[in-house]
Amino acid sequence: MPTCTALIVAAGRGSRFGGPLPKQYALLGAQPVLRRTLAALQAIPGIDRLRVVIAAGDEGHYRAAAEGFDLPPPILGGPSRQLSVLNGLEALTTDAPDLVAIHDAARPFVQATDIAACLEAVAAQGVDGAVLGIPLADTLKRVTDKGTISATIPRDNLWRAQTPQIFRFAPLLQAHRDAAALGATETTAFTDDAAVAERAGLKVVMVAGSGDNTKITTAEDLQRASTMETRTAFGFDVHGFAPGTAVMLGGLSIPHVQTLGGHSDADVGLHALTDAILGTIGAGDIGLHFPPSDPQWRGASSDRFLKHALGLLAERGGRVIHLDLTLICEAPRIGPHREAMVNSIARIAGISRERVSVKATTTEGLGFTGRREGIAAQAVATVEVPRS
Ligand code: MG
Repeated sequence: MPTCTALIVAAGRGSRFGGPLPKQYALLGAQPVLRRTLAALQAIPGIDRLRVVIAAGDEGHYRAAAEGFDLPPPILGGPSRQLSVLNGLEALTTDAPDLVAIHDAARPFVQATDIAACLEAVAAQGVDGAVLGIPLADTLKRVTDKGTISATIPRDNLWRAQTPQIFRFAPLLQAHRDAAALGATETTAFTDDAAVAERAGLKVVMVAGSGDNTKITTAEDLQRASTMETRTAFGFDVHGFAPGTAVMLGGLSIPHVQTLGGHSDADVGLHALTDAILGTIGAGDIGLHFPPSDPQWRGASSDRFLKHALGLLAERGGRVIHLDLTLICEAPRIGPHREAMVNSIARIAGISRERVSVKATTTEGLGFTGRREGIAAQAVATVEVPRS
């Protein structure tokens, strides 16, 4: 396995970003963008070391963003991106890796699978570098300074180059040294490392990315990326029948020749929904929050359990997008009560009825539900929560 150091370029001033901090130090959710990028790269097999290139004067921001990471001191960048990378490469020469993965600090969503694909591509015989990119989907126009379209540029074979860009270390270092020797005018001309490598005649291949590798360039990008993520989780529950005259299902009392046995009111539907909600925020299961051994939950109305789970979700700034409940039993018949059950769950959850689905099925006489020994419920909750 070749050694690979990730060189994270965080020395930009972000003229298009316009915030009080350079974009790589701005908060994305609760964490600086750079911190998220470090965490993403640290978790990737095949990358064994991380180094960061920062701008002089940003040491305080860097310390805050990298706190808790076991990293060597940052490397100070130069007057252009190209020269910042050169400084980074020079700093690695004392213990040179086989490969260097150059990555923008402002791409915190980089996917492990995409990096693995680049590592695989660069391992091929005769290949010096691999660049993550996306085929161009939009039509390209050349536009005059006055805003008039002067030409349409064929987009065949055009790609947007992203990072990481992974190279064999020694040839890239030489290519960068040669490029820097060209002088001041040219040293700002290379906007990525592939351009430096291409100039040196190195063989660099393009690797198609999965697409989720947004670069945070403007405050709007940060806003969009900061907001919410969607999560889905599953819940399951079973209660057995016991002597009685009605069952609680979805917060409704439905007349039946038996009841459901259990410590609480045994509302198997609300229990499954509660577990699904808890699952979206990794908050354990219903038994953890309401232990059956605790006498205070004897006969408890299960809407309390669902409301508790929803309260935990709300505390995290989340909200329900959709609840889907499937009840599995031969009897009672659910169809006549379906609409009322949808309304009941929507009311308990404080959401519109369009966000609630109730379905029912039998098991064709098979198994414990088929033998009318009890009712099973499955639930899927879809929620959105702030990116953590
Ligand atoms: Mg239960």
